[in-house]
Amino acid sequence: MAITIDKNKCTACGKCVDICLEDVLGIENGAAAVLYPRECWRCGSCVYDCAFGAITVDLDADNSIRFIEF
Ligand code: SF4
Ligand code: SF4
Repeated sequence: MAITIDKNKCTACGKCVDICLEDVLGIENGAAAVLYPRECWRCGSCVYDCAFGAITVDLDADNSIRFIEF
């Protein structure tokens, strides 16, 4: 899976759920969960907005759209 959640770091704040335009993520059993992995286009927004470093996305996967900081 291209996106993983470290449940030991996740505080279930919900920010990644709000930021994802594709509704890939949700909160289940007290932590973020990847509900629709095939909808993830690897933009990286959830990774950059998680203050706890709990999300990892394989940004080097083929056909990914890269997050660009200006
Ligand atoms: S933003 Fe980070 S800490 Fe908050 S729910 Fe998502 S993965 Fe968990
Ligand atoms: S990388 Fe982008 S599309 Fe994928 S789960 Fe995170 S915010 Fe959603």
